[in-house]
Amino acid sequence: MSETVLQLTGIEKVYNRGAPNEVHVLRGADLTVKRGEVVALVAPSGAGKSTLLHIAGLLDTPDAGTVDIGGQSMQGRSDRKRTAVRRSDVGFVYQFHHLLPEFTALENIVLPQLANGVARGAADDRALELLDSVGIKDRASHRPGALSGGEQQRVAFCRAMANTPKLLLADEPTGNLDPETSDRVFGALMRLVRETGLSALVATHNLELAGQMDRRIRLDGGYLRQD
Ligand code: ADP
Repeated sequence: MSETVLQLTGIEKVYNRGAPNEVHVLRGADLTVKRGEVVALVAPSGAGKSTLLHIAGLLDTPDAGTVDIGGQSMQGRSDRKRTAVRRSDVGFVYQFHHLLPEFTALENIVLPQLANGVARGAADDRALELLDSVGIKDRASHRPGALSGGEQQRVAFCRAMANTPKLLLADEPTGNLDPETSDRVFGALMRLVRETGLSALVATHNLELAGQMDRRIRLDGGYLRQD
């Protein structure tokens, strides 16, 4: 049987419970992502995609339900353990790159490795290899402000991959780019994911991009449904 990298079971999330502005975003969402699988999470804005990704990536906790990453249950784990698993096993990409402006592209990819205990020399080598794989090794010493939107997002992909995660979570990763750049940048992301055999859950409302992934799930009324 192929290895399960992410398992969500019965995930519920309510914001402002009991208040007039209560929002029941997730009502029992179930999802299994296997090793090497790239899954599109398709839903309109406001449906709860970011909420689901944050819960899957251990940045938020559900009100009910369980999250397993790499076969390990995260139920009842300490914050310290959750942070360690997030650092080593999960990579995040957001719609806006969120790179640190005062550091170079290379340094932005090196920093999460140092936080994970990697030595500087090895972290530099890994960062350069990743930049090379997305075709922008020559931009290594540029700060984010001196990069184009597409280049910034490629650096953000490399940063997400820096610690060789098991799972990549991406929230509208090309939503901020023009269509042509979006296609190229998404192509670079997919190559990187495929080369490393990584599993990915990618939120998008771009159906063309969703069509290039292994399967599509819809977030609808707080539940996940296979398309
Ligand atoms: P999406 O990523 O699909 O656009 P979100 O997960 O960001 O959806 O939001 C889902 C719903 O939950 C929205 O109605 C949003 O306003 C609400 N929401 C998100 N975060 C919070 C929060 N921290 N407090 C209250 N409501 C929230």
